[in-house]
Amino acid sequence: MDYTPNRHDFDRYMTPNYAPQEVIPVRGKGSRLWDQQGREYIDFAGGIAVNALGHCHPVLVEALKTQGETLWHLSNVFANEPALKLAKALVERTFADKVFLCSSGGEANEAALKLARRWAVEHHGEHKDKIISFRQSFHGRTFFTVSVGGQPKYSQGFGPIPGGILHADYNDLESVMQLVGDDTCAIMVEPMQGEGGILPATPDFLEGLRQLCDEHNALLIFDEVQTGVGRSGELYAYKNYGVTPDILTTAKSLGGGFPVAAMLTTDRIAPSLAIGTHGSTYGGNALASAVALAAIEFIDTPQVLEGVKKRHALFRGHLETINAKHGVFKEIRGMGLLMGAQMATEYEGRAKDILALAIEEGLMALIAGPNVLRLAPSLVIPEEDIAEGMARLERAIEKLVVKA
Ligand SMILES: *Cc1c(COP(=O)(O)O)cnc(C)c1O
Repeated sequence: MDYTPNRHDFDRYMTPNYAPQEVIPVRGKGSRLWDQQGREYIDFAGGIAVNALGHCHPVLVEALKTQGETLWHLSNVFANEPALKLAKALVERTFADKVFLCSSGGEANEAALKLARRWAVEHHGEHKDKIISFRQSFHGRTFFTVSVGGQPKYSQGFGPIPGGILHADYNDLESVMQLVGDDTCAIMVEPMQGEGGILPATPDFLEGLRQLCDEHNALLIFDEVQTGVGRSGELYAYKNYGVTPDILTTAKSLGGGFPVAAMLTTDRIAPSLAIGTHGSTYGGNALASAVALAAIEFIDTPQVLEGVKKRHALFRGHLETINAKHGVFKEIRGMGLLMGAQMATEYEGRAKDILALAIEEGLMALIAGPNVLRLAPSLVIPEEDIAEGMARLERAIEKLVVKA
């Protein structure tokens, strides 16, 4: 018999580590979604900065179908054509010379950290093992990456934490100088903190980190899992800053909704990931690689990247207009189509309330911590969907204001 799952099935059958909304979307097209009852939503959440081309974009559907009828998976015992094409595309479009493919952002960061440690041990000795990262940063949910991440709530309660990890304050070079030394193996940083509240790095900060790494023979790792693949208005956010890392990780938008990720590095460092040192069964999966290649070729064009900058201005304009009327935000910030609106003091901790009210109005949005409303829509969201989504957001905010 045909069976329609419902929200209670989540509590019944799934581990309780998430708290999903009551509605269950079943279909998406572009920047619109429909739930089980046929109600329509505008999508400003983009699957948490993943659905870079909205839902079921024809270019991605075509790549998926074609590859799906050709070859899905081989394992790394063999090379495959889509993976080789994807690696070449990433190398040709970035600072990198070499690519390690995997399936998630946490996995890409795990590879980056392991590579940095091996490189430092091989070239400088066992003492060079300190990894510096930043408070409030987010790098994934593996045990190494939650430990490097700067939110203790994600790493505590699981027993002994991997050692050699130090945390400085974001955008505070002085706090890094107090920790950096000849035992520093790597500095890992998001060019804009995503989960931590949509906080862009200042140019001086990233330039300073580059300089400190050079002075101390340490590697600079940019976690561009959230900021990458056109989201910032450039293919990768480092291009906005003109600061080049030694290792860069990319995931989320890379597959436009298909699980795929990559760690990029240079010929100077890559040899430390010698045969047998690291691996991933799904890394370089042919189906995932074919979709990611189609996504990156579509996104890394002047039309799409300039479109991101244009839409950023539209989003910002709408948010400022709403705020001029209702005064719910203290600051509107972000890059490209990764934007945050920090709640005003009277509404502190209430970002989540906006999400629930927005769903009532037919809009999906995100938060980044308790105080920031986050928007990460499709990079090609149509202007009429932006306008309609913002009308819905304003109605949600009107309800918040009445309730306050
Ligand atoms: C989402 C995110 C990750 C983790 O990616 P997963 O695919 O969930 O493992 C890591 N770093 C940043 C900056 C992220 O935004």
